[in-house]
Amino acid sequence: MTTHTARRTPVHKGPAAWSAILPGQPAPVPLPGDQTVDVAIIGGGFAGLAAARRLRQLDPTLTISVLEASRLAEGASGRNSGFMIDLPHELTSDDYAGHGDDRGMIALNRQAIAFARGAVEDYGISADFFDPVGKVNGAASETADVLNRSYADHLTSLGEPNERLDAQGMLQLTGSRHYVSGLYTPGTVMLQPAGFIRGFGEGLRANGVSIWEETPVIAFARQGTNWTLTTPKGRITAGKVILANNGHLESFGFATNRLMHVFLYASMTVDLPPEVLKTLGGQPRWGVTPSDPMGTTMRRIDTALGGNRIVTRTCASFLPGMEPSEADLRRTAAVHREKFADRFPALAGVKQEYTWAGHLCLTRNGVSIAREQEPGLFAAAVCNGLGTARSTLTGIAAAELAMGLTTAATRHFAAEAEPVKLPPKPFSTLGANLFLRFKEWRAGAE
Ligand SMILES: Cc1cc2nc3c(=O)[nH]c(=O)nc-3n(C[C@H](O)[C@H](O)[C@H](O)COP(=O)(O)OP(=O)(O)OC[C@H]3O[C@@H](n4cnc5c(N)ncnc54)[C@H](O)[C@@H]3O)c2cc1C
Repeated sequence: MTTHTARRTPVHKGPAAWSAILPGQPAPVPLPGDQTVDVAIIGGGFAGLAAARRLRQLDPTLTISVLEASRLAEGASGRNSGFMIDLPHELTSDDYAGHGDDRGMIALNRQAIAFARGAVEDYGISADFFDPVGKVNGAASETADVLNRSYADHLTSLGEPNERLDAQGMLQLTGSRHYVSGLYTPGTVMLQPAGFIRGFGEGLRANGVSIWEETPVIAFARQGTNWTLTTPKGRITAGKVILANNGHLESFGFATNRLMHVFLYASMTVDLPPEVLKTLGGQPRWGVTPSDPMGTTMRRIDTALGGNRIVTRTCASFLPGMEPSEADLRRTAAVHREKFADRFPALAGVKQEYTWAGHLCLTRNGVSIAREQEPGLFAAAVCNGLGTARSTLTGIAAAELAMGLTTAATRHFAAEAEPVKLPPKPFSTLGANLFLRFKEWRAGAE
């Protein structure tokens, strides 16, 4: 009998701002004692909740428990910028163009978005938390404009609608003169990520799924035909287990030295008072991704999402120990203030109320892991940076595999290569951080 013991459990740095700006929620309920279920899911992010919903759809009689180390929406699923993107968005390319079967990937991304929309409708999640308004890829320089044009050509060749905005159009949208142009694509859904995840959890609970928060799984082992999961206050015995814990898959000894643990950082302003909003101008809600994937993502939200605020997301660090330091947060908070002031010089003094870090998991060859690892043990992990859609898809696929089905999603992940190995440490750490800093520097004003 092999016991998989967690070498570490998640540590979240900085507040989960998207959750903090929403009304409070009931106190968390940890797993109170020993229980037996048909399927246990480790991790309550996009992947874990999607897996639970898909299992419910496939067999309403199943007993299902989701075990979440922290609170719902405290992990990366509640710490992102909320762009649920349908199009190729290859972070390792210069202009996001995909490297493979773009049409196939778009179809799968749209399947994931439609599945999320189904959850919004079935569980009565606020439409403000799942807003199908599309997004803009902003360019701040002529060089970036060239990247945007190349991305636009690529999209047009795929038959995907896209619309160019000039500097005036960008000013009208954002209130910022920073951008020389933008590329609007209509298929992105803009999430209030914490509102969406919390609502998803409530909906699942109302449909009989148990969700135990502040319940880290610290070990699991196969015993006979079942799995036993150990948590601080109780054990779960389950016929099947889905590991939906993203990079912490490696903490249990899977895909060792094959996962890149990257942290992204973001800051959110205070709720902007009316006089500041007047100075700002622009529309009350918008999302701008950078035309260089390593640039700065900006987003404005309004009161229905938790206040009139602007979110700035930039900086990345490669941290195999899966824990950013306070110094990382300080460095990135300073960069966020600078990027914000570049875009909104008249608002330079506005306070950033929250700064936080979030854990991403990538592989060098861009593959996810949605496969059976051992009999009855399935993974839905490795978001590759775009987990709102991709992790939803890994969760769907893992649930389908657990039910013995072969579908478009399971076939997609089965056809992917294994994650390739990383170079040995410390070269991988030093090299990756130098590379990320270089890419940040090269992204410049973007
Ligand atoms: C700042 C930032 C901005 C981002 N912006 C975007 C964006 O705009 N669009 C986009 O698509 N993606 C974005 N992402 C990425 C996105 O947030 C992730 O891809 C997504 O959250 C991955 O979902 P997941 O369910 O696979 O993993 P996670 O959200 O990481 O969920 C895994 C869960 O497992 C839990 N867990 C881990 N170990 C254990 C254990 N031992 N026991 C119990 N529970 C455990 C964790 O607490 C966590 O809640 C961003 C990420 C960050 C950090």
